[in-house]
Amino acid sequence: MYRIRFHGRGGHGIKTGARILGSAFFAEGFEVQDAPRFGAERRAAPIDASVRAARAPIRERGALRSPDLVIVADETLVPVAAAGVLVDLSERSWLLLRSATPAAQWQARLARPGRVLALELAVDGRSELPFVGSVCAAAAARLVGVIGWPAFEAAMRAELGGLDATDENLRRTRAAWDALAPHAGRVAEGPDVLAPGGDPGWIDVPLDPAAVAAPDVSTPATSLQLRTGLWRTHRPVIEETLCHACAWICSTLCPDGAIAIDAAGRPQIDYDHCKGCLVCVVVCPHHAIRVEREAASDLPAQETRP
Ligand code: SF4
Ligand code: SF4
Repeated sequence: MYRIRFHGRGGHGIKTGARILGSAFFAEGFEVQDAPRFGAERRAAPIDASVRAARAPIRERGALRSPDLVIVADETLVPVAAAGVLVDLSERSWLLLRSATPAAQWQARLARPGRVLALELAVDGRSELPFVGSVCAAAAARLVGVIGWPAFEAAMRAELGGLDATDENLRRTRAAWDALAPHAGRVAEGPDVLAPGGDPGWIDVPLDPAAVAAPDVSTPATSLQLRTGLWRTHRPVIEETLCHACAWICSTLCPDGAIAIDAAGRPQIDYDHCKGCLVCVVVCPHHAIRVEREAASDLPAQETRP
């Protein structure tokens, strides 16, 4: 059975990428499971999605253990413990990172002597982020080597349902497909995982340990270092002349703690971490916060590299 896990952030199209890969496997005659796993359901929050594919009925259920391939759409997730990028990686697992950093450097950082690949994929802005998931799906299909391009393209067209961006998406995925040609078929199927004492006919699904299930804010390399404001499409702007400096309302109700009160008692928005949910606009009793469409020049700097 192939066991493949994708890691990314909300907005990358990771869930859709897993569906595309699952459909492509199915078209090639495999039994398939694909499932996303969300933490906080918001843009930029870590998510993962898994695909199992086998030529026999799949009886495994629950979170995917012993992956044959892990694909990471955002290298800044690697040090985030709650994202669980490296969980259950074994010596026979392959790891593919979307990164401009060479694979050899990642091997040294992660103390993995081999089986690490890096795929450089430039993304110019937020509107391009949803392409990332399908590119990761194409990378996975190429690495397992049992899916042909016609089946993959058909799966993409079926899953994307004729979206305007489908052709552009296919162009990008084909580029990744071609770039990984030297590695085609490197990922092999993993062995069956049997329960101790033989196959009991069911799989126990344990709760995730706290290190995985806990929110990012309680783990190292968390939201302060990851500038999630990059994902905003609209920004709140405080009108100083209308603001009554009641202070606690907007700053308390901002779900990301992105509004601080300065020494003069006035609210200040931290645009590096404001995710643009616009809750503050709704709760301000004096209608002192207006909404502006995000301009590319106002975006915070790219996230820190691990
Ligand atoms: S809730 Fe509105 S009026 Fe009160 S401090 Fe915030 S922006 Fe100003
Ligand atoms: S839009 Fe307002 S409430 Fe939402 S994260 Fe930004 S500052 Fe906080």
